[in-house]
Amino acid sequence: MFEIISEAASELNVKVYVIGGWVRDLFLKRDSKDIDIVVVGNGIQLAENLKNKFPSKHKLSVFKNFGTAMLKWDEWEIEFVGARKESYRQESRKPIVENASLEEDISRRDFTINTLAISLNKDSYGKLLDVYCGVEDINKKVLKTPLDPDITFSDDPLRMLRAVRFASQLSFSIDNKSLKAIKRNAERIKIVAMERVMDEFNKIMLSEKPSIGLKLLRNTGLLKHFFPELDKLHGIDSVNGKAHKDNFLHTLKVLDNLSELSDDLWIRWAALLHDIAKPDTKKFDNEVGWSFHGHEYLGHLMVEKIFRNLKLPLNEKMKYVQKLVLLHLRPIALSESDVTDSAVRRLLFEAGDDIDDLMMLCEADITSANPLKVKKYLKNFEQVRLKLKEIEEKDKIRNWQPPISGEDIMSAFNVGPSREVGMIKKAIREAILDGKILNSRKDALEFMFQEGEKLGLTRAENSH
Ligand code: ATP
Ligand code: MG
Repeated sequence: MFEIISEAASELNVKVYVIGGWVRDLFLKRDSKDIDIVVVGNGIQLAENLKNKFPSKHKLSVFKNFGTAMLKWDEWEIEFVGARKESYRQESRKPIVENASLEEDISRRDFTINTLAISLNKDSYGKLLDVYCGVEDINKKVLKTPLDPDITFSDDPLRMLRAVRFASQLSFSIDNKSLKAIKRNAERIKIVAMERVMDEFNKIMLSEKPSIGLKLLRNTGLLKHFFPELDKLHGIDSVNGKAHKDNFLHTLKVLDNLSELSDDLWIRWAALLHDIAKPDTKKFDNEVGWSFHGHEYLGHLMVEKIFRNLKLPLNEKMKYVQKLVLLHLRPIALSESDVTDSAVRRLLFEAGDDIDDLMMLCEADITSANPLKVKKYLKNFEQVRLKLKEIEEKDKIRNWQPPISGEDIMSAFNVGPSREVGMIKKAIREAILDGKILNSRKDALEFMFQEGEKLGLTRAENSH
């Protein structure tokens, strides 16, 4: 493929290089499917030329406004762009873009490890260009800006978040000068569109150990400018020598624990937000010490506003996060020995198919430093899992559908849609969850007639 690009470039008499992430990942032995090609000249023209060579095989998308073109080539996504430089104004991250030399283009990149380029030109095919000692920094596992970091970060504040993202994703450290510059420029993250901030944030969330990135976000002062609720979790209060744990660090531990168990972004979000309402529910009492009463309830209410502010999707993924936040204390309650079957049924009913995810979150929520305690809690949850399994096998509550519909009730008493119908439906559900009647149509019908009569309804002639 690179040979073909090389050939096409030489026909057009332009210089061409593979650059950036793909070259970096080659050194890091990471698999990467997106390839950036920089052309000293017209990138779109080169991409179109390639497309014409294989009209049916590849899909080409041209973004004239950005001067870029994207070619789908088997599993590869190749982006072609002309070498360029950007100049920035204070108040916006939308730059003025001009054509430039390769050297200028390279110097405008975010980190030295992303400045590496490999020539695809006939006279120097395969030669590495490493102007800013990127290979050395890859080996040292350090993120450093090619230019003065204050300029790099202030020009495009998203780069600060990219620094944290790469640190978390690759387990690299951020060079001290760059780190200080991030702290100085942190507030400028506010001019970046939230969607782009979240692209980077979610890459942090998906990294092997998200706490690396999240700690950096807080320590650099970036976090409070776009996600104040999370920033606020940090800190310890102490009254009469009694302190509570730092909820930020606890949350990160839960998130790391969970990340060992699941790669799913949204369960990780549930872990991130499970204690989000602790600062707002915090109370101190001389007798009982610190409490965070109702934090799961308030927390689940906060999810929507947070998702809205962060421009995350307001769809079933959000509902899933809300549900796990709301229910995250319930399995603990079930681990107490004298728990009733009806409490187990209720949890199965409310969690539905997410019950296994909820259990996973709860197990990740064990962050005690005492291994004996951890063992004990895990064992308790093992008991809860058994109880859940036993009751589910018996009562089939997990995907519970009412055995009797509203229509059934209406025709049984010959009434139209009304308050009574709703009351009877609810009474049937409660009776089943409480174990007063079996989860069967026969029992539910009998119960329905009793309830209806209590409400003063009479059976329809033809009902049985
Ligand atoms: P990945 O694709 O693994 O997320 P990447 O480094 O390839 O990481 P891309 O967003 O694909 O990141 O960008 C490709 C290259 O473009 C980068 O390697 C870097 O050289 C440059 N780049 C991307 N975004 C910026 C930016 N905001 N400022 C400066 N250079 C950037
Ligand atoms: Mg890339």
